[in-house]
Amino acid sequence: MPNQVNIKQNSSVEKNSWINLQKSMLSLYGQDVYTSWLQNITFVKVDYNALVLSVKTRFIRDWIVAHYADKILDLYKKEEQNVSRIEFQILERTETKNNKSNVLEFEKKESAQDSGGYGLSKIDDKLVFDNFVVGRSNELAFSAANRIIDNLNKYNPLYIYGGVGLGKTHLLNAIGNRLLTKIDKVIYVSAERFMYQFVRSIKNNDVVKFKDIFRSAKVLIIDDIQFVSGKDVTQEEFFHTFNALIESGSQIVISCDRPPNDLDRIQDRIKSRLSGGLVVDIQAPDFEQRVKILKQRCLKEFHASEKNIIIDEEIINFIAGELKLSIREMIGAFNRITAYLSINYKKISVADAKSILRDSLNKAEANLTVEDIQKTVVSYYNISMHDFMSSRRSRAVARPRQIAMYLSKKMTSKSLPDIGRRFSGRDHTTVIHAIKKVEELILKDKGFENEIKDLNNKLIKRV
Ligand code: ADP
Ligand code: MG
Repeated sequence: MPNQVNIKQNSSVEKNSWINLQKSMLSLYGQDVYTSWLQNITFVKVDYNALVLSVKTRFIRDWIVAHYADKILDLYKKEEQNVSRIEFQILERTETKNNKSNVLEFEKKESAQDSGGYGLSKIDDKLVFDNFVVGRSNELAFSAANRIIDNLNKYNPLYIYGGVGLGKTHLLNAIGNRLLTKIDKVIYVSAERFMYQFVRSIKNNDVVKFKDIFRSAKVLIIDDIQFVSGKDVTQEEFFHTFNALIESGSQIVISCDRPPNDLDRIQDRIKSRLSGGLVVDIQAPDFEQRVKILKQRCLKEFHASEKNIIIDEEIINFIAGELKLSIREMIGAFNRITAYLSINYKKISVADAKSILRDSLNKAEANLTVEDIQKTVVSYYNISMHDFMSSRRSRAVARPRQIAMYLSKKMTSKSLPDIGRRFSGRDHTTVIHAIKKVEELILKDKGFENEIKDLNNKLIKRV
């Protein structure tokens, strides 16, 4: 019996790890990739060293294996180190006529525009020009976008490229939103979704309908076109749709993570078509622009929060100074600070910010697990792991346990319930109590504070 309870606990830890992983994937790849592919993966179990996942179709499995499996495994290993491979189960809920009603229902939920069952991506009405900060890094792309809006078809296609998290999707949506005020046939789709829906249409014997949806567009906005590479049929279809649209006078806007010529496995004639209009890039923003973006976020937070969160200039400069490569990551870091402030309503120092953001600032630390911390604490205080994990409450083991919980919260990204579970299934309130206790002692007792610093250093060096 006790065994069973244990299994249950473990599997919920693993499930939680999966949820954490999905969150990381969402922030890594963005909403669209997430909804198109990653959300379609269901966690089944961890079987010895295999992470078992299920997906609906072979196509989804193949796509995930080709594009995301390595990353999924990497991230999952950070949560559960003994896992070394991924197994896929295919549910085979094939989209045949027998269960068409099922399929349509599924579609209804995810379809954002009226497109006869072929859900496209939704233009996000929060991504507009008003909140798009223009600086040296993106002024070229910004002015090209405006030229397109004022003068459709003059530059066709408009091709915008740049690294991850630099604002391509934002700019594309801003263009879409602006154009929607004067034209109604604006279609926005990520290349991934395009592929997914195209393959579905083949299975459903619906290709004509699928093509008609795209061919009716006055403006077609395609995000992340690098995902079209590879699949021959889809490339071909994409190319036909593309030509048909340009010939009928529709405007096409494209984003990509690289210039047209660097697209591997895309046919040359498609590449030259892609570069035939206007090609512009978005670079990483400079410090000044990063500060502007954060200040704009501050204003938004200030108005949105009940407590009127105020973030010091010093903290803004710190975040902008540290997170240089991706605006998405920088905003993620900013959000973590505001989340912290909305719970611990107090002034924070740069040192606090550093510790809140340590996962993003120092990737090595992010690899630290609760188990590493437990081992280090146990050996530091020279106690046995067995006693440490037991329910004994004597000071000699209880204090180190509290310290380990405190360090787990400070040094990993695990949630309180997650940490609790890793200490023989303790409750999150026990963890909260431990953290409070340790914080109290740090303030009161210099010697104790030094012990914590010492442990902290050992753990940092260890990774
Ligand atoms: P990409 O598509 O290039 O990976 P996104 O458009 O998704 O990047 O941008 C990542 C995040 O950064 C989004 O939250 C977006 O709103 C924000 N962002 C990007 N560029 C700007 C900008 N110039 N001004 C304000 N916010 C921006
Ligand atoms: Mg994007």
